[in-house]
Amino acid sequence: MNQDTAEAFVIHFALKYFPHVFPQEVMDALKAGGKAEQNHPVTTPGILLEWENKISIQSHWKGVIEDYNVDKENAVAQVIKSALLKTRQLKIKYQEKPEPVVFNPFGLVIRSAKFYLVGSFEESQQPYLLGIDKITQIQLLEQQALRPQKDFILDDFSEAFLTHPTSPEIIDTLVVEFPEKAFYYVKSHPIKCEQLHISDPQGTPGYFHLNAYKVKNTLLLHQWLGSFHDDAYIIKPHYIRQQINRSLIDQLTNLYNRKAFERIGSREIDRCYRDSNCYFSILVMDIDHFKNINDRHGHVFGDEVLIKVAECFRDYDAIRYGGEEFVILLPHTHAVEADCAAERIRQSIESLVIKSGAGDPVAVTLSIGIAEFPLHLSNKDRDSLQRKEKFKLNTKTKGSLMDAIIKQADKALYQAKETGRNQSVIIQGEPVL
Ligand code: GH3
Ligand code: MG
Ligand code: MG
Repeated sequence: MNQDTAEAFVIHFALKYFPHVFPQEVMDALKAGGKAEQNHPVTTPGILLEWENKISIQSHWKGVIEDYNVDKENAVAQVIKSALLKTRQLKIKYQEKPEPVVFNPFGLVIRSAKFYLVGSFEESQQPYLLGIDKITQIQLLEQQALRPQKDFILDDFSEAFLTHPTSPEIIDTLVVEFPEKAFYYVKSHPIKCEQLHISDPQGTPGYFHLNAYKVKNTLLLHQWLGSFHDDAYIIKPHYIRQQINRSLIDQLTNLYNRKAFERIGSREIDRCYRDSNCYFSILVMDIDHFKNINDRHGHVFGDEVLIKVAECFRDYDAIRYGGEEFVILLPHTHAVEADCAAERIRQSIESLVIKSGAGDPVAVTLSIGIAEFPLHLSNKDRDSLQRKEKFKLNTKTKGSLMDAIIKQADKALYQAKETGRNQSVIIQGEPVL
């Protein structure tokens, strides 16, 4: 880059990104310099535009330096900018909160011309996102703001929060499962809705179900749900679960992770324990020759394949069980019916068109093993399920029963692989002891 280009670049960059950082005189001088050079061939070369497209400003700088476009909210933006740059706390009044609260800002996000402040309340590190237009009062405090948790990534968080266009203002039905220990908290902190019903833990021992109708989908609701951490499990609706129970979601595929599976499995085994007429099926699925796909087209492409495959499971509460291994639990489903679902999934993956970097279509298939609970348990395991001592089924036993049925489905998967792949197999023969 020659000196003129470098100078033009600095002027351009400063005007675009630092209007609040430089004193007014400097800005005026820069603007004058910029104008004077407008006819100069080096001030508008493609290189500047190219640079501009490549510059991505990360972390909490993002937005802070773009906020000069906002007129109406400029005063708020100024205070927020100072708080972010100096890592200081804010005292804010927010539409949904009558009392002022202390807020630890982590960042500012712009989406569709709307500004959102990201940070946590008081002593918490749980991140929230506030629409700046809803802030009614704001004050910069002297105290240092708390930082987010180490693994916090502003872009991922805002992405997750802001990519739910279907998230309505009123939630028709909210169903939350929460543990007994939180019962009095729930009772004494009612949420805003038209109708509320808390049912006894008959369905799942140790857990209550809260059914709320016509619930206001506000920040307050999100805070309330977030305060349970992962103790509260959002059964309905799906979009709230994705926002609140994030530690149960696999980051790459957006499917449930293994931790979520423990919860889903344990609930299902409880059901079968209490009611001997209950049953479910398990599908264990594994992408065929995935190592070859990675080796030929690279790991990044492999990840893309995982995302596309995961999209084929969207009709189910699928779990990413391991690298390229997935599990689906189908309640009240016999193995033969589960096989029909498996076939639909197998076909949808077979017909995926995924193009490699070079533009060639890459064939992706998967094999599926199926086992039914409790039908395909070993005699010993089935006995332990039938030897009922009410409410004595502990977490360890539940876990080992789930492991046992997964093992059976895994055996079926192995058979599917051995006999040609791209097919589903129901576990055959005598159950193993
Ligand atoms: P098979 O048909 O017998 O299942 O063959 P395979 O090649 O799929 O089996 P194998 O278990 O040997 O290989 C699985 C590969 O999956 C190995 C590993 O590098 C890859 N893998 C695991 N997790 C990820 C991931 O998150 N991303 C990518 N790109 N690859 C992954
Ligand atoms: Mg595998
Ligand atoms: Mg595989």
